[in-house]
Amino acid sequence: MFLRTVLKGEKCQKLMRTFSTRTEHATGCNFELTDTQKEMQEQARKFTKEEIIPVAAEYDRNGKYPWDIVKKAWSLGFLNKHIPEYCGGISIGTFDACLIGEEFAYGCTGISTALEASGLGQAPVVAFGTKEQHMKYLGRLVQEPLVAAYCVTEPGAGSDVAGVKTKAEKKGKEWILNGTKMWITNGGVANWYFVLARTNSDPKVPASKAFTAFIVERDSEGVIVGRKEINMGQRASDTRMITFEDVRVPEENVLASEGKGFLVAMKTFDKTRPLVACASVGLAQRALDEALKYAMERKTFNKPIADHQAIAFMLADMSIGVETARLAWMKSAWASDQNLPTATVLASIAKCYGGDVANKCATDAVQIFGGAGFNTEYPVEKLMRDAKIYQIYEGTAQIQRLIISRNLLNEAKQTNK
Ligand SMILES: Cc1cc2nc3c(=O)[nH]c(=O)nc-3n(C[C@H](O)[C@H](O)[C@H](O)COP(=O)(O)OP(=O)(O)OC[C@H]3O[C@@H](n4cnc5c(N)ncnc54)[C@H](O)[C@@H]3O)c2cc1C
Repeated sequence: MFLRTVLKGEKCQKLMRTFSTRTEHATGCNFELTDTQKEMQEQARKFTKEEIIPVAAEYDRNGKYPWDIVKKAWSLGFLNKHIPEYCGGISIGTFDACLIGEEFAYGCTGISTALEASGLGQAPVVAFGTKEQHMKYLGRLVQEPLVAAYCVTEPGAGSDVAGVKTKAEKKGKEWILNGTKMWITNGGVANWYFVLARTNSDPKVPASKAFTAFIVERDSEGVIVGRKEINMGQRASDTRMITFEDVRVPEENVLASEGKGFLVAMKTFDKTRPLVACASVGLAQRALDEALKYAMERKTFNKPIADHQAIAFMLADMSIGVETARLAWMKSAWASDQNLPTATVLASIAKCYGGDVANKCATDAVQIFGGAGFNTEYPVEKLMRDAKIYQIYEGTAQIQRLIISRNLLNEAKQTNK
């Protein structure tokens, strides 16, 4: 109506026609979940309450990989959600997977990372694999409770992926892989790895053509799995160095095609960053809930600390963060499911903002708990340790801002042309 009044005549008709085509395609703006989505969310919440929350502190203390929880989640269909139906998966979209991911993260992000990291290894195979690769490597994960891992980062190259030194050389019908990957989640427990390696040694060749992506069997000769890293938080998650020494990889394990590896590795993040974002929101929501509960019980100066405005406003700010970060992951997951060109930048916004909100909420929850916030007997110090990684893995907070600002500048240049 507003548009009709402002724009009259043919110009208005044309715009309305475009608008109506767009709304048919995009189904309009709607924040209501479907009954199926509500059911999925409810099931994930139940799983979190019954299986994750009761053991989270113990796994944080002992740092063991939560195989029992992974197996239960697998048997209920909570793993391998993106795997195509013809391989036995359920092939749900990013949005629906995020609904589940946020719930798991509410329980413990160490355990939820252990549950979700296989999805990071699978994502490039789902998107770029052949049907044969799908059947062999994704099908295997559906048949048995096995997991995958994503190996891109190296001791000398994290943010600067183009600096990856692991190399693969073609010998007959095989590739020979040599190099070392670092900080690989699920590194010690994965059945197979997604690996990015340089296949063109000419430094003048651009990254978009110099790398190739491979699927590598964990039990291949020459795969050396390092010790489990002792991290600040998310201790149930398994992080390792993986070394490849003359590992023979059959040519049919190349993903997409030779030279396309950089694109494969980067495009994966459009699908997986919303999942990291939703997990950081799960953590932030937990921090808010714990802080709210404590603030209503703890009394100082004859009243609950929640009645001191300084504390109430911290809670309000936490709530603002949780709500807006949730909207950010929802929009990015939706854009990813629609394969929109904006999916990359929206995923960066959601991931970056979610990480910052999780850290702010966890820090504020510690503050609201006072001395008890600093103590391992109370739940919030773990949240603060667990939150930090959301500003680091799958692209640091600075790298997300780099992507977002580059996108802004590119758009501005296009507009001004
Ligand atoms: C627990 C954990 C799990 C992980 N899981 C995986 C995994 O499963 N698979 C995998 O491949 N990797 C994984 N990683 C690696 C992770 O993605 C990298 O650590 C991350 O991308 C940062 O790389 P880096 O550690 O080399 O830091 P660096 O790239 O060395 O960055 C150091 C600092 O410099 C900043 N910086 C770098 N470049 C710029 C720039 N251009 N502008 C501004 N600031 C910049 C960074 O933001 C950061 O603050 C994991 C890491 C951890 C800690």
